[in-house]
Amino acid sequence: MTLRLRFTALSDVGRVRRDNQDSAYAGPYLLVIADGVGGAARGDIASSAAVEAIRKLDVPPGNDPLSELAATIHLAHDRLAEIVEGHSDLDGTSTTVSAAVFDGAQLAVGHVGDSRGYLLRKGSLRQLTDDHTLVQSLVDEGRITEDEARVHPHRNLILRAVDGVHEPEPDLFTADIEPGDRLLFCSDGCSGVLDDEALAVLLALDPLENAAARLVSSALDAGSSDNVTVVVAEVVESDEEITAPALVVGAAASAPHLRIANESTGNLSDSEFSALGEEAPPIDPEDLRYAPQPPRRGNVLRRLAVVAAVLVLLVGATWGAYAYSQTRYYVSDSAGKVAIFKGVDLSIPVGPSLHHVVKSTNIPLSAIEPYFAAEVRNGKTVDSFAKAEKYVAGLPLTCADSSNTSVPTPAVPTKTPAKTPPASKKHRAPTAGTTKAPTKAPSPTTTATPTSTPTSGTSGCPGAR
Ligand code: MG
Repeated sequence: MTLRLRFTALSDVGRVRRDNQDSAYAGPYLLVIADGVGGAARGDIASSAAVEAIRKLDVPPGNDPLSELAATIHLAHDRLAEIVEGHSDLDGTSTTVSAAVFDGAQLAVGHVGDSRGYLLRKGSLRQLTDDHTLVQSLVDEGRITEDEARVHPHRNLILRAVDGVHEPEPDLFTADIEPGDRLLFCSDGCSGVLDDEALAVLLALDPLENAAARLVSSALDAGSSDNVTVVVAEVVESDEEITAPALVVGAAASAPHLRIANESTGNLSDSEFSALGEEAPPIDPEDLRYAPQPPRRGNVLRRLAVVAAVLVLLVGATWGAYAYSQTRYYVSDSAGKVAIFKGVDLSIPVGPSLHHVVKSTNIPLSAIEPYFAAEVRNGKTVDSFAKAEKYVAGLPLTCADSSNTSVPTPAVPTKTPAKTPPASKKHRAPTAGTTKAPTKAPSPTTTATPTSTPTSGTSGCPGAR
């Protein structure tokens, strides 16, 4: 004898909602439930598009039904992406998908979201699927109990869905079945209000169609405010093929699904979309049901690695620039007076300062010949501190600020007698240690020697240094 599936499906818009965003399919080889999410973004289109893509698996399965399931769920993802690309107003729509392929010996199940699959065997009910919800993650972490999850204010928030944007990442697994097993795939409009005990009793009812009808009516009577959809199947031994026609219920059986299915591109025309928009409720709590899934962990880690690498490069470059700057010196203006700076004459908006004064003088810029004063004002770069001191010592002074008699005279070491340079020559004045010392420079000496003698190009600036 061969194992076969008897099946039925039923969907009800419920007592609160204006439209049915659930879709379902039942056939001899395939059971599917899809609960559209998105409210005004038309979750009905998402669920019907998903069923449209997956129902192609209702044929005798191949050798790898799990891979085929994964492929069709991704096909649903692609179809939804096409639809949203063509109609940006549908951005945000998504759907759960729980689908089971029957190969005569076992079920291959693909699952995304919080619709559920159950197996009833000899009166014992087992939930086949794990909810991809916030509350389920809290239960798994031991932070709340199953009972607390059932009444949690965010119990409807799902973390995974087929949305055409994020990779769907379905749970894929197989389940062995036996003759007499009953199967239930349902939306949260049913499982959210009926506990396992009630589900087990109702699922066991005969005939199968009665079980489906009682599951739906009991969910509504229990206060479900959602669409309620069930797919019920029984495993039977039979040599004869099941001849009952496949069933499509919910949104997938209505106009949005048919319009999408009949278009080669899967997109709605503008007129069709406008017509659909007229039916859409302006505000629906379903808008808040699906928490868009964050980028996959691998993507996050890759991005963090890139950011970290960039930061390392920036820090390295900044440190390298700073280290280099601290090998440089320049002479410039500090509060109107000549000073020797360590670093480079640059300022950056963040990070350490690239320069600081290492030696101040009392030489006003106004006491320097204009050419050299401008050079100092612009920052005169030198290779070392010694050369900076030499440059300062050789600055030609005017007597414009000769009142500043308190300026100390710097050391002007020199080893050779000086020769007076041409007074009209506009180049740097002789500096300490060069052979071109001021005319009345002191006798050659290597020690610091105070002098009142003006440097080259000046004529009697008393105590300019
Ligand atoms: Mg629902």
